[in-house]
Amino acid sequence: MKKIAVLGSTGSIGCQTLEVIDSLGPEYRVAALTAGSNDSLLAEQIRHFQPEMAALSDTTAADRLRDNIKPYKCLLESGPEGHLTAATWPTADLIVMAQVGFSGFEPLVAALQHGKMIALANKESLVIGGEILMRQGLLDRESILPVDSEHSAIWQCLGASTSGNINRIYLTASGGPFFGKTREELEKVTPAMALKHPNWQMGNKITIDSATMMNKGLEVIEARWLFDLSLDQIEVIIHRQSIIHSMVEYIDGSILAQLGPPDMKLPIQYALTYPERRKSDFERYDPFGRILEFDRPDRDNFPCLELAFSAARTGGTMPAVLNGSNEAAVAAFIEGKISFTAIPLVIETVMRDHDVIIEPGVEDAVHADSWSRVRAAEVIDELTGRVS
Ligand code: MG
Repeated sequence: MKKIAVLGSTGSIGCQTLEVIDSLGPEYRVAALTAGSNDSLLAEQIRHFQPEMAALSDTTAADRLRDNIKPYKCLLESGPEGHLTAATWPTADLIVMAQVGFSGFEPLVAALQHGKMIALANKESLVIGGEILMRQGLLDRESILPVDSEHSAIWQCLGASTSGNINRIYLTASGGPFFGKTREELEKVTPAMALKHPNWQMGNKITIDSATMMNKGLEVIEARWLFDLSLDQIEVIIHRQSIIHSMVEYIDGSILAQLGPPDMKLPIQYALTYPERRKSDFERYDPFGRILEFDRPDRDNFPCLELAFSAARTGGTMPAVLNGSNEAAVAAFIEGKISFTAIPLVIETVMRDHDVIIEPGVEDAVHADSWSRVRAAEVIDELTGRVS
C-alpha cells in the first residue's frame, strides 16, 4: 500500500491527483490533505478519502471545517505550520506538492530534510530554493519525481541515462493564447483573454504565467535543478499542439520525445505509480494524419522568458525575487490594476533594485521573497499613478 499526502489538494493539480488516486484502487490511500482557504471542498475530500490529518492556511476557514468533520478521525491544523506537518507526516510514503507559488517552498525544504519522497508539481519552490537545496546537500534527485508535464517527459525520456549523456533538452511551450501577437495587440490583453488557455485547463496563476511565457522561464530553472543541467543545455521550443511534452537530445545526436494528449493525469499517475506503469483509461494520441510543428519563442514580445534566464544566471536570491515579483504582478493584472505588458516591467524593475545575496540560506530566500512583494507593490502603485 502507498500512503500519499496531497498538499494543495483543492487546486487544479490537487483535485486531479485525488481523481487519479481514486482510480488506482485500494492500494493507494490518502494520508494527509492541505489547502489554503477552500474549507467546503476540503471537507468533501476528507469525507471521501478519510485522511489521518488535514490543514488549512486560513484559520477562520479551519474553524468552520472543524465543525464539519467532527465524525471523522482526522487531526486538523490551521495556519502555515499545518503544511509543514503534512509535508513530513510520518505515515506518508509520497508527498504530492501541488500548492501554488511560494507557499510550496518551506514544505519542500521540510519534506527533503525528513527524507521524504516527493512528487513535485510546485515549480516555484525549486526556482526559489534549487541552489540553496543543492548547496546544503538536500537536493536529492532520486527523491523528487516531477509532475510538471515537460519535466515528466524529460524524466521518462531519460530512463536510466545520466546527465553526462545529455547534449541538451528541448523544453516545449505551447506559446499560450497570445503566440504571434504584436506588441500593440498585447497592450490590449484583458485578464479574461489571458485566462483562456488554448490547450491546458489550469489554475489562474499558471494560466497567466503561460500567457506571459514566465511559466516556461520558471520551468527552465526547475529543469536545471531537477536534471543537473547548465542553462545553455536548455532550449525552449514552441510547439503549439502540446502533443510532444519535451525532448532529450543525447550526446550521440539521438533525440527522444514523450507524446500524449495534453492531460495532467498522465504525469500525475506516472509519479504516483513510479517505477511501475499502470493501465489507464486516459485519452490516447492518434498519430495518423497529424503534423507536429515547432517554432522559436518570441523573446522580444515575451520578455518574461529572458528575465527568468537572467535571474537564473545571477543566482543567489535573484530567482526568489523573480518569482515573488511575478506573483505580485500577476495578482495585480488579474485584479485589473496593471496591463498585461506591465507584468515584465514590474519584475524587471524589482530585479534591478535587488541587492543579491550570494550563497543564501533558506531564511534569505524567504526574506527576498517578502522584499520583492513589497517592492513590487510600490512599483505597481507608481505605474498606476497612485504615488507620484
Ligand atoms: Mg508545465
